[in-house]
This record gives sequence, structure tokens and C-alpha cells, in this order.
Amino acid sequence: MSKINWVYHENYDIPLKLNHRFTSSKFSDLFYELKKTVLYKNAIITQPKKANIIDLSISHSVDYINKIKNGLLNYKEERKLGLTWSKRLSERSFLAVNGTLLASKLAISNGIGCHLGGGTHHSHYDYGSGFCVFNDLAYSALKLIESKIVKKILIFDCDVHQGDGTARILSKCDDIFTCSIHCKKNFPLIKAQSNLDIELENDLGNFDYLNKIKKSIAFCVNHFKPDFVLYDAGIDIHKLDELGKFNIDDDGCLERDLIVLSYLKNLSIPVATVIGGGYSKDKKDLAKRHSIIFKAANHVFS
Ligand SMILES: [Zn+2]
Repeated sequence: MSKINWVYHENYDIPLKLNHRFTSSKFSDLFYELKKTVLYKNAIITQPKKANIIDLSISHSVDYINKIKNGLLNYKEERKLGLTWSKRLSERSFLAVNGTLLASKLAISNGIGCHLGGGTHHSHYDYGSGFCVFNDLAYSALKLIESKIVKKILIFDCDVHQGDGTARILSKCDDIFTCSIHCKKNFPLIKAQSNLDIELENDLGNFDYLNKIKKSIAFCVNHFKPDFVLYDAGIDIHKLDELGKFNIDDDGCLERDLIVLSYLKNLSIPVATVIGGGYSKDKKDLAKRHSIIFKAANHVFS
């Protein structure tokens, strides 16, 4: 049985006021949820180190990085981000962005790498948005291309919301193909242009959704021929998600992840997974939903 690489840091949680839409403990909740399962025994866990300003400037303006580092966001900027600045938020943002890069490197060596964080795809070059401080997907992809570890990267974003920040940061990068499969009538109001946007209607159920996923992953891989894939397994597609508008149940979520991962494994294309969005007042349910991608990774790769 092959072991699966997980990337996690105990400082990932974000201190927030009670009743905030974003579950502040979702990262440690997920870790403890996974710890209870058989998957944990089959995992190798690695901790990321904080990204530095020079590294991060590949995807963000130095001015914005310094605002996050030093707590200099103004009221409007903090509102757009949707999170209150704190030293903890700043520190975890510099950690988590490197967590996706680390999971990517582990994936390239081992076929699969799973991050217990990441998917902050609404973060733009010089501002944060929709609970996303730094864009781990754009950052990791640009760092990998720069280091020549891989030549062509597909970012396959299945969060229910469009990966607008990723699309804009990478709009001029021919080595990275961005595909976002999202709900049309959902945040962000003004959409960016990914290399491929699949816009879906509200209330979509398992059957139609999974068909779209099958066709889209095959199209992206055949058309672009990536040698590495970053997969945003956002769980806000779930029918009980507070911000999602689809009608996908637990089985549909698992099936989606199995479709994507087995397709890539069959072609020997390494894939790193990030957890993406997921919103619920029930912390246990949310942790369970976020654990689905780890179940799928174990099923396909171990
Ligand atoms: Zn989302």
C-alpha cells in the first residue's frame, strides 16, 4: 500500500468572531476528523515553512504583501477580504500559500500530494477577496514553472465559485491553463476570464454535474497536455453548503474527486489537491465534507 503525502500546519486556523461565515477552526477540524479515520495511518504529514516576500512577489505586489505582513489594510480592503486582520491571520497566510507549493512538489515526486488547506482562488495580484489572502494556486504554479520542475500546469478548479483571482493573475501566462467549473449565479458577481470557464446553473444535481466534470477534465488534458495538475476540490458544491447553490450529495462529491484523480493517475499525470471552499455552521459536517478528497486520494493512489 503506497503512503499518501499530506501537508498541514497546526497554525492554519484563523481567529475570527463567533458566527463568522468562515469556520475559523476548519483546518484543525479537518485534521482531527482525518486522524480518526484509517486514512491517517497511511499518510505522511509534512509541514510547510512560511513564504518570504521575494518568493510571494511572483504572484502579488510587494505593497500588498507588506500590508498583510504589517496589518496595514484599510477598512475597505479588509471588507473586501472578508476577514479581520490579525497577526495569526498574517502568519497562517504566509504558511498556507507555501503548503500548496509543498504539496505540489510532493505530488510531482509521488503522483499525489494533498494539502489540508489552500484553494484561495479569489485573491488577486494586489488585493484579497472572498476570504482569500494570497493566491496559493497562482503562486505555486508560477514558482513551479520558474524553477523548471514542470513545463505545463493545469489548474482544475471545481470550487462552486469562479477562480477569478487565479484567472487574472495568470492571464498572460501561456504555461498555465486555468479551468474553472462554477455556478454562474454566484460570487463573484463580475467574473474574470479563465482559459476555460464552465458556467453551470443553480440546483444542478449529481448526474449532470459529474458529466460536465468528466468531459472537462478530458478536454483540458487532451487540449493542453499538462505535465502537472493543481486540483481545487472545493466542497461548497455540496447541497447543504451555505454559499453553494448546487444539489450535489456526499456520493456526488466523492464521485467527482474519484473521476478527476483516477483520470490523471491513468495518464501518470501528478496531481496536488487543495480543499477550497466549504461553508457550514456545523463544524463536524464541514470537516467530514472536506475529508472526502482525502478518501478519494487514498482510494485511487494507495
Ligand atoms: Zn467557493
